[in-house]
Amino acid sequence: FDTETRTLSYIRSRSFLPVKSLPPGQRKRILVTGGAGFVGSHLVDRLMLMGQEVIVIDNYFTGRKSNIAHWIGHPNFELIRHDVVDPFLIEVDQIYHLACPASPPHYQHNPIKTVKTSVMGTINMLGLAKRVKARFLLASTSEIYGDPEVHPQTETYWGNVNPIGPRACYDEGKRVAETLTYAYRHQDHVNVRVARIFNTYGPRMNENDGRVVSNFIMQALRGEELTIYGDGSQTRSFQYIHDLVDALILLMNNDCDEPVNLGNPDEYTIRSLAELVRDEVNPDCKITTLKATIDDPKRRKPDISRAEDKLGWKPTWPVRQGIQETVQYFRRQMEAGLI
Ligand code: NAD
Ligand code: UDP
Repeated sequence: FDTETRTLSYIRSRSFLPVKSLPPGQRKRILVTGGAGFVGSHLVDRLMLMGQEVIVIDNYFTGRKSNIAHWIGHPNFELIRHDVVDPFLIEVDQIYHLACPASPPHYQHNPIKTVKTSVMGTINMLGLAKRVKARFLLASTSEIYGDPEVHPQTETYWGNVNPIGPRACYDEGKRVAETLTYAYRHQDHVNVRVARIFNTYGPRMNENDGRVVSNFIMQALRGEELTIYGDGSQTRSFQYIHDLVDALILLMNNDCDEPVNLGNPDEYTIRSLAELVRDEVNPDCKITTLKATIDDPKRRKPDISRAEDKLGWKPTWPVRQGIQETVQYFRRQMEAGLI
């Protein structure tokens, strides 16, 4: 409850966010695919608090109704169980297309379905955008850069992806999703936005989704060893969820239709992240190293000059503060017997 309260007070502290419903002329109908997931549910919170009308479609593969249950019954909110692999027709002004599992164990669980979700799901949502003349935003990923040979990664870098490795279903799926997005833009004049999202964390991450932040926090809270895959020298740059939501909304409402990196350039080795979480949660925990995973990118850090320049955005949440908020969320969930 405390974390939620703090989240809401943070949201309300943003001066551009009225909490009341916007008048009909200004209110947009906004579709969020994957809106019951981690990122989607925070985006829905923000759009609802802005006074917009929000429709969520989700098949609950990795998302949960509980992430958005607090909006059920609100006149501006609608939740529909639907798989984006199947076509969907609705009159909307904007589409945030997020539906896709994001954690490696989840997207590797059924790689064929992951590719179908990215390819057929994106075709269906672009087809919808074309038909109803909605603006379309694709949640793409830093994974399209693969194991990058350029550091930090700029949007002009084409990437280094193994097309047949275990991560390919996600990486190549998102690359095709970007290709489709620009094909619909050039061929059919769909108004598109592409967000290349770097590792993002925060409350409502699935506690067992296998991503590094949730793994380390849950392990530390349970007094277990923190598991580093490989030697821990690989790096990632971790962005707190509220910074990402700020940027997604800015991008959707900006005229920049080129891909934009959204991430926090503050780069950590996985070992230093483990140490940070251990020191925050439980200094007695041990850190252990396990076998490296196949095709694990060695370094990742966004160049965010384009986002700074076009959106006037840069992240404001330091990693330690975001980790503290996330730890508090998982601790409360454990105390409430929810996990
Ligand atoms: P998540 O797994 O929590 O959310 C994904 C949501 O999509 C879930 O609610 C899931 O049930 C839904 N979904 C999956 N397949 C679907 C389908 N076929 N039809 C309908 N709904 C479906 O993941 P997330 O972290 O919230 O990621 C959201 C989006 O952001 C994804 O597209 C992901 O690729 C992208 N992204 C996330 C990160 C990150 O670090 N969190 C980084 C880069 C990109
Ligand atoms: N990782 C780790 N221990 C874990 C989970 C992940 O060392 O318990 C590593 C993983 O090998 C990768 C990094 O942390 O190098 C980020 O992994 P995550 O799955 O969170 O995201 P992605 O690999 O998609 O960036």
